[in-house]
Amino acid sequence: MEEIKIYKAQNEPVLSYMKNSKERVNVESTYNNMFNSKVDIPLYIGSEKILTSERKNILPPHDHKNIVGTFSLANKKHVDDAIDNLLDFKESWSTMHWKKRCDIFLLAADLVAGKYRAKITAGTMIGQSKNIFQAEIDAACEFADFLRFNVSYLTEIYNEQPIDGPGKTNILEYRPLEGFVYSVTPFNFTAIGGNLCASAALMGNVILWKPSDNQMYTAKIIMDIFEEAGLPPGVINLVSGDPILISDIALSHPEFSGLHFTGSTTVFKELWKKIGNNIHNYRDYPRIVGETGGKDFIFCHPSAKIDSARTAIIRGGFEYQGQKCSAASRVYIPKSISKELISELIEKTKKIKMGSPIDFNNFMNAVIHKNAFDRISNYISYARESQDCDIVCGGECDDSVGYFVDPTIIITRNKQFKTMQEEIFGPVITIYVYDDNEWKEMLNTVDSTSHYALTGAFISEDEDSIDFATKKLIYSAGNFYINDKCSGAVVGQQPFGGSRASGTDDKAGSKLNLLRWVSPRLISTTHNPPTEFKYDYMD
Ligand code: NAD
Repeated sequence: MEEIKIYKAQNEPVLSYMKNSKERVNVESTYNNMFNSKVDIPLYIGSEKILTSERKNILPPHDHKNIVGTFSLANKKHVDDAIDNLLDFKESWSTMHWKKRCDIFLLAADLVAGKYRAKITAGTMIGQSKNIFQAEIDAACEFADFLRFNVSYLTEIYNEQPIDGPGKTNILEYRPLEGFVYSVTPFNFTAIGGNLCASAALMGNVILWKPSDNQMYTAKIIMDIFEEAGLPPGVINLVSGDPILISDIALSHPEFSGLHFTGSTTVFKELWKKIGNNIHNYRDYPRIVGETGGKDFIFCHPSAKIDSARTAIIRGGFEYQGQKCSAASRVYIPKSISKELISELIEKTKKIKMGSPIDFNNFMNAVIHKNAFDRISNYISYARESQDCDIVCGGECDDSVGYFVDPTIIITRNKQFKTMQEEIFGPVITIYVYDDNEWKEMLNTVDSTSHYALTGAFISEDEDSIDFATKKLIYSAGNFYINDKCSGAVVGQQPFGGSRASGTDDKAGSKLNLLRWVSPRLISTTHNPPTEFKYDYMD
């Protein structure tokens, strides 16, 4: 058995982007160049890059009249061709020495963190409307981290071997899945788009990638990086366009072996149903991995420090306009500190600046598209008309230039209020104020209010209460934070994912995820095979 050295990955440092710093000047000029030019994004099928006649425009959410590019829309033949091409190429990729596959993705990580850093960061600012810090921690750091840590996990997995028996050598071979993997990715993280392909590809799989329409701008940059890193064409084929058309073809194919999905709960459930309906057509039982929605909470215990609670709520709720699956959207505050904490929250929230990401003073930018803008506005209108709550901050929405929604704070008197239960995916937090002496019972409410269980935070200075809540909320969140916001997981430090309606909890950015993309084969060699069927005791 080949000796495998464990690769030790390290987190990519976050750059500061202080005024006049080299990285800031670089990103600003890259942003301006990209914003004032146009890119046409093809389908990627093997070595072919196909620009189709049917295209969609790419519009920055903060300036939706400025077209920065187009992307191609796949038809049935394109999707069929993309799958055929993957299957043709599969053998040469899966039999390539694992070290070579690792080298390709490690080089890709260096390109993300180096040569392409300004481009992928500026692309994320333009295409997904993230401020520089949010773009940096996603597109540069998290993406590079995923690529490097996955190599580390691969070496750990390959090293996990069974023991040998008397006269027997046993080897576990971590084969990739037999068919192809279908990756369907969301708009909100460039890093997720790249990782949902790269993680399974690293383990030797071939991938059909369907990115979100609203992440296509950086999907191209990811494909460019993979190509420059030496990823052979035909390992990851990108098809963009109608998600139902593409999914129906992929999920009815006999060689479909796995779904790697991140996105909303409704879409994931639909895809799971389709897989169930096709179960007799497949050679394999497909692996189904889905990280989905959240209704993430921050619970302040009566001992909570006001400053840290306030910062956790504002950052957790409003960073990236609340469009993180882990964003805080329901908050529980004890009566004893509610007056002070809420008035400080309002005061600070009013100071938040919002606008284009190229103005570095803006903490918030636009929400992703018209549908999101309408959905969030409808929740705010519902709250405005309800007798059960008051909007105490924000509430204004303006889509004349970009899709801008004010950071909004609602206080409800109904702990089961609609905005305490449903994922809004926008900059709206709802607060419920509880009686201090009921804090333990309130944890039951936290657990049962929503069907999601992704992230949650408990803010407290009291050790016993932390212990109690950690036990009580065991299934309420897959990522549980103590004295912090409920977002901002770092690869290698906080493996990410939740259960219940929030997903299959396969923990992106961990070994657990990579294990889903292999189908291990045990090879057992007997050195002196028995020559007589009778056992010794029978004589
Ligand atoms: P979405 O579900 O609208 O889209 C996700 C992907 O599914 C996109 O590629 C989209 O084109 C595709 N899709 C949409 N409708 C489809 C259909 N009918 N059939 C097949 N594919 C379809 O999600 P989004 O708006 O891109 O992202 C936001 C959602 O993702 C939120 O619910 C958020 O909580 C979730 N999310 C979860 C995590 C996590 O780790 N748990 C991370 C990021 C985002």
